Amino acid sequence: MKKNLVWMLCILLQMTLTAQAQDREYVILVHGGAGVLKSVVDSPERSAQYYAALDSAVSIGNALLEQGKPGPEVVMAVINYFEGNPLFNSGKGAAVTSAGTFELDAAIMEGKDLTAGSVAGVKRVKHPINAAYAVKTKTAHVMLSGEGADTFAEQQGLEMVDNMYFATPSTMKWVEQFKAESKKNGTVGCVVLDKDGNLTAGTSTGGMLRKQWGRVGDAPVIGAGTYADNEGVAVSCTGHGEYFIRHVVGYNLSTRVKMLHQPIEQAANEIIFGELNTNEGNGGLIAVDKNGNFAMPFNRDGMFRGVAYKEKKTGKVVKALGIGKELKY
Ligand code: ASP
Repeated sequence: MKKNLVWMLCILLQMTLTAQAQDREYVILVHGGAGVLKSVVDSPERSAQYYAALDSAVSIGNALLEQGKPGPEVVMAVINYFEGNPLFNSGKGAAVTSAGTFELDAAIMEGKDLTAGSVAGVKRVKHPINAAYAVKTKTAHVMLSGEGADTFAEQQGLEMVDNMYFATPSTMKWVEQFKAESKKNGTVGCVVLDKDGNLTAGTSTGGMLRKQWGRVGDAPVIGAGTYADNEGVAVSCTGHGEYFIRHVVGYNLSTRVKMLHQPIEQAANEIIFGELNTNEGNGGLIAVDKNGNFAMPFNRDGMFRGVAYKEKKTGKVVKALGIGKELKY
C-alpha cells in the first residue's frame, strides 16, 4: 500500500517536472531515414545538401505551425517536400524493388481522434502521403493497397505519374548493377504538436532496397511505423520495417508514455536501444508528446533529422538539425 503510494507520487512528480521543463507552443520533428551513408558523411558537399534539405523541411513546417495551421496540413506539406526531393527514399528517389519497380507506402494519423489513413504498395500516385490522407478523410477504411489504392487516389483527383517517375540515376544504377550491399536510406517522416495542442504523425517511403515485390513495410502499418494519440505520442519510425512491425514500435512507445507515464525519451530509448537492438532491428524514430517533450533516438551510425519548437515564455524559436550523432543548433 505504502509502496504504491510512493510509486504514484514519483510518477506525479516526474509528470509535473517534465511538463514544466518543456513548455512549448508547438513542435515539429522530421526524419529523412536512419543509417546514414558513409559517402554522405565523408563528403562535405553531400552533407551540405542533406542539411539544406532538412532545413527546408523543418522551415516549411515551422512557418505553417507559426500560422496556426493544423497538424495534418503541416505534416503533409513537409512530407510533400521530401517526396519531391530525390535525396530521400520517398516519392521521387524511392528504393527500387527486386523486380525493378517502385512500390510506395505512406501513412498519416491524428492523435485527437485516432483517425488514420494509409496506402501500401502504390505505384502511380505522385504523393503517397496525400493518398493516405484521402483514405483517412474520404473512406470508412484505414488502409488501401496496390492498384485499388492507386485507382482511389486517381478518383480523388490526386496527381498521378508513371512508375518510372520515381526512378533516379542512382536508384536505376542498383537495378542495372544488381548491387544489394549498398542500401538506399531515407524514408521520411514528420511529427508535430500544433498550436491547438494536437499531435499528428506521418511517414512516407519506398521501403527497403530490393524488397520482394508485394512486400509491405512498417510505415503504413498503424501502430508500427506510424502512430499518434494525444494522450501518448505522435511517432514516425525508420529502419528495418519487419522489426518495427514485430515490436509494434509506434503503439509500444505511445502506450509506455500514456499508461506507464514513462518520459518520452526514456521510453523511446528503451525500445530503440533495448528491445529492437537485441533483435538486430536497426533504425530510429522521431516522437513528440502533448507537452512538447520529444525524442529522436537511433541505433545506427546516424539519422537525417531536424527539430524546431517555439518556447511559450520567451517566444523564441529553437531549431536543430543532425545527420550523425551530433545535433547542430
Ligand atoms: N522502414 C522502412 C521499411 O521497412 C524502410 C526505412 O525506413 O528505411 O519499409
